[in-house]
Amino acid sequence: MSSDLSEALRRLVAERADHLCEYCLVSEADLYHGCEVDHVVSVKRGGATVRGNLAYACFHCNRHKGTDLGSLSLRTGKLVRFFNPRSDCWPQHFCLNEACIDPVTEIGEVTSRMLEFNHPERLAFRRLLMEAGRYLTVEALARLKE
Ligand SMILES: [Zn+2]
Repeated sequence: MSSDLSEALRRLVAERADHLCEYCLVSEADLYHGCEVDHVVSVKRGGATVRGNLAYACFHCNRHKGTDLGSLSLRTGKLVRFFNPRSDCWPQHFCLNEACIDPVTEIGEVTSRMLEFNHPERLAFRRLLMEAGRYLTVEALARLKE
């Protein structure tokens, strides 16, 4: 993360995301490490620290994404970009099958695979959150209707 991220910009990103990870939709209130500001296009790849290039991401999504912009599709072998929370609509690329986040596009496929949305531990965690009524939150459900 770039050091020129102001507290005001960090707050804007968090509030715009309803304090949810914009990739896996888990609420930061349920995460030990909370969420952090992600550069959609990383600083390493020339991305700027501006509101249009920032997203709110949980530790797991952000670490697995790293500085990558995409990956090779398992189906076609072609380079496919990741889901972009600033320009893409979550329900156009993913659907929920109980706690499992299933991809519905190639962008969804590379994103869910590379960010390890459905790693067994993350799946078990989301199942626990669902049982506790914490996943999907009202804010997350609203995003699914966008
Ligand atoms: Zn996440």
